Amino acid sequence: MPMEGKEHKVATIEIGNKESLELAKGNSTAPVCRFCDAPLKQTLVDLGMSPLCESYLSESELNQREAFYPLHVRVCGKCFLAQLEAYVSPEEIFSDYAYFSSYSDSWLAHAMKYADQVTDRFALNAGSLVVELASNDGYLLQYFVQKSIPVLGIEPAANIAPFAEQKGVPTLVKFFGVRTANELLAQGKRADLVLANNVLAQVPDLNDFVGGIKILLKERGVATIEFPHLMRLMEENQFDTIYHEHFCYFSFISAEKIFAAHGLTLFDVEELKSHGGSLRIYGRHANDSSKPVTARVNELRARELAAGFDKLSTYDSFAEQVKETKRKLLAFLIEAKRAGKQVVGYGAPGKGNTLLNYCGIREDFLDYTVDRSPHKQGKFLPGTHIPIHAPERIRQTRPDYVLILPWNLKDEIMKQHAYIRDWGGKFVTPIPATQVHP
Ligand SMILES: [Zn+2]
Repeated sequence: MPMEGKEHKVATIEIGNKESLELAKGNSTAPVCRFCDAPLKQTLVDLGMSPLCESYLSESELNQREAFYPLHVRVCGKCFLAQLEAYVSPEEIFSDYAYFSSYSDSWLAHAMKYADQVTDRFALNAGSLVVELASNDGYLLQYFVQKSIPVLGIEPAANIAPFAEQKGVPTLVKFFGVRTANELLAQGKRADLVLANNVLAQVPDLNDFVGGIKILLKERGVATIEFPHLMRLMEENQFDTIYHEHFCYFSFISAEKIFAAHGLTLFDVEELKSHGGSLRIYGRHANDSSKPVTARVNELRARELAAGFDKLSTYDSFAEQVKETKRKLLAFLIEAKRAGKQVVGYGAPGKGNTLLNYCGIREDFLDYTVDRSPHKQGKFLPGTHIPIHAPERIRQTRPDYVLILPWNLKDEIMKQHAYIRDWGGKFVTPIPATQVHP
């Protein structure tokens, strides 16, 4: 049930200070579900302690103490929402957010296709309003601007907003929730289309966020929301997509419960390839009969129920799958290093940091990694302290193996850097299981 005005509790624990950790443990009651408040007893996977995956370090920070937090995902026995406790405040996560969406070509193509599709399907025009929650640098809304459809971006990271404004995307620097939705309503602003891509999982107060969508949506409005699909995560060992900024891991049935509790019906769903397998759900007001529920909704729900996503026992085997994925990667790396091979990384995504920290992979296995984003070059990965260089470094050192950390973009990366085969270099992907690409 929606809990209006429920305060989200943030506990910060600094490791290195054993006393405060013990104190926090002793004082904390059993964690409860962020949606339905039921106690969380079932573990999905415990990846141990890890630093915040976006906290890239400068050289001068390498000798300083680093904060590590638990990465322990549990599943609610009542609503089956998989989730992490919030150890970090959203302000801490978003204060200097280094991720700029615009750097991936395939993601831009995905955004453009989406804009075309929804503009046609929901007849959006110059009289409509499209609002994106967590609009980043305007990479998506720019395609609506090109169609002369009015847009508004809502983005909490102040350092990103100016880049959106340059693209002609008006941006409100705020966290989204019931309060922000009511402020917009008071200004006469309601949306024909609300879109939220890869943010729902990152919202600490889930009920406040979905409650805000309910308020912001016009009577016949549509909300489309994309998030990684828990079914894909579990089937394909994508444990590296678990990080502190991702509080929730949704199945379709858990998402459906959450939206229904806020008076929103999911009337359509698409299964997308992005981020290793995502869902795009389409929500509308429960009483809007102009958009009937599609067969795709019933089919996916039936498939999840058949796979047992409404039974806690289904979630038991995942932890062992994760351990085996780690063993396979380490076995490959140990063998490669013993044979005198040079192994480097490609990319510095959040998921790479979970993978490398959980597996204990440092410069002993990866000499360095590279990233296209100039905001990351010259810095070091959190926890593992692996240096991040520009991609040109690969041509200079001619490594035997390039481990692709953003494996969801592997086709694009292998194409762009096909030249490594000139000297016999090979690409390696770690997920779902270590694979060398000839
Ligand atoms: Zn629950």
